[in-house]
Amino acid sequence: ENGGEKQEEVIFRSELEEVAVPSDMSLPQFVLEHVDECPTQVAIVDAVTGKQYTHSQVRSLSRNVGAGLCTHFNLQKGEVVCLLLPNMAEYPILVFGILSAGGVFMGANTSSHPDELEKQIKHSEAKIVITDTLSFPKIKNIAQQLQVLIVDTDTPPEGTKSSNILFECNEADVAFPKISEDDLCALPFSSGTTGLSKGVMITHGNLIANLCSTLFDLDNAKPGENVTLGLMPFFHIYGFTGICCSALRTKGKVVTLARFELCQFLDVLIKHEVTFAPIVPPIVLALVKSPVVDSYDLSKLKLQGIMSAAAPLAPDLRRSFEEKFPQVMIQEAYGLTEHSCITLSHCAPRHPRGIAKKGSVGFILPNLEVKFVDPATGKSLHRNSLGELCVRSKCVTKGYYKNPKATNDTIDEHGWLHTGDVGYIDDDGDIFIVERIKELIKYKGFQVPPAELEAVLISHPEIRDAAVVPIPNEEAGEIPAACVILTPGSILTKDEVLKFVASKVASYKKIRMVEFVDTIPKSSAGKILRRNVKDDLLKRLHQN
Ligand code: AMP
Repeated sequence: ENGGEKQEEVIFRSELEEVAVPSDMSLPQFVLEHVDECPTQVAIVDAVTGKQYTHSQVRSLSRNVGAGLCTHFNLQKGEVVCLLLPNMAEYPILVFGILSAGGVFMGANTSSHPDELEKQIKHSEAKIVITDTLSFPKIKNIAQQLQVLIVDTDTPPEGTKSSNILFECNEADVAFPKISEDDLCALPFSSGTTGLSKGVMITHGNLIANLCSTLFDLDNAKPGENVTLGLMPFFHIYGFTGICCSALRTKGKVVTLARFELCQFLDVLIKHEVTFAPIVPPIVLALVKSPVVDSYDLSKLKLQGIMSAAAPLAPDLRRSFEEKFPQVMIQEAYGLTEHSCITLSHCAPRHPRGIAKKGSVGFILPNLEVKFVDPATGKSLHRNSLGELCVRSKCVTKGYYKNPKATNDTIDEHGWLHTGDVGYIDDDGDIFIVERIKELIKYKGFQVPPAELEAVLISHPEIRDAAVVPIPNEEAGEIPAACVILTPGSILTKDEVLKFVASKVASYKKIRMVEFVDTIPKSSAGKILRRNVKDDLLKRLHQN
């Protein structure tokens, strides 16, 4: 404490020793550094198709992909390549290929609406999109302006190419550009503390630093010892950093699965002898509540641990899970896109206590600095006082793509990332997240930016104004709910409003509740007072 640049700053650091972070490597070099210790071990297996790749195949094929992108598609250093694909065995190979060639990986959600994809692709200036036959129709309208590669067919639609030419390219033919730690590596999308979704500029150095801070306990893992379920979407930082990069770096195996369906999930855990399943609270809920689980012989599970992250895990749910799966350890983790993935983690074998208290999201990871700030005064607070969590480390994003204002609003001049989450650190160094003060809604762990839904709502000619806020929901964590002011004389129904929005956004962003109101509380500067909107909505709900 009190080690900061100003006397009154109250800064907390990890109780764990600093970890060295290499500065002379690209992310693929770092992730695949130990391949020669486990060349023939399976690195990735696709739970659906059964296709699998060894660690050395991942390395050689990703270099082929990089060479193919340079020679056939003229990929230049720093150019963005969009991957519009569900989780599949080839996904990490394609990403490491893009990165080896100096490109920037931008994952897109296959459930996005075509308009959302068009916006994301245009904003990022991606010229190459790698997709499959199922998602291609969603970008068909803009395909003439792009080079499109299709992964799952030898007879690609007109104007597109099969991705086979990438896998078959000889890497020896191409000299890859030199990559330094400050070079852009990934451009995941996040709305941050306010407004619309924005590209988050993550560098090779950011991701390597994050992996060093999270994996320090696993550097001596035995090849093939850890089998990680690859269910969390790879387009999101949780799936990419927390699963693909982490499992491959530690010589483990990833079992990819594109979507959650409880029976298939349990079948895959058993068949592939999965030892570690990073998931989100709604899946924990399904495992606890669904009667289907009782028809499985759970003694066949090799599962040693689950990670619950991306949204809060209710203490009751945690307890019920522990009762039902006593042999499985729950590791909570807290992270955010702007910090390259995990920020606080619940267990660290090398930590003096090994595991943080139940209900806490964990300890401060090595190399990180943390403070809790009073949002009203900006002053940093002592232990056990609630404040906005701020983090400073090498994992903090370079900023939002082409949006210096949003960057400056989120990362201050001293390098502190303001997370928009409120919590505290207790006397033992365990951190508790209590509330989210940023605008963001999290539906089953997915980001739903209210500003985006408000823009869709007010684009309707009969809607004069709208405010969207999160309402607590057991199954999803939160659901987006809207207060809407109609234009005078409108006879629009609530159902029509719901359908209108649903026709324009990804399914997980749908508004699930509407109330018609006369006014929307706003500050004198015209900002929606979301807390008041939410309280009003909750009051109405209880009255009904
Ligand atoms: P994303 O950038 O999509 O990963 O979203 C990050 C946000 O998810 C954080 O700022 C939190 O609001 C929320 N979040 C992530 N992990 C947790 C957790 N373990 N507990 C509570 N909220 C979390």
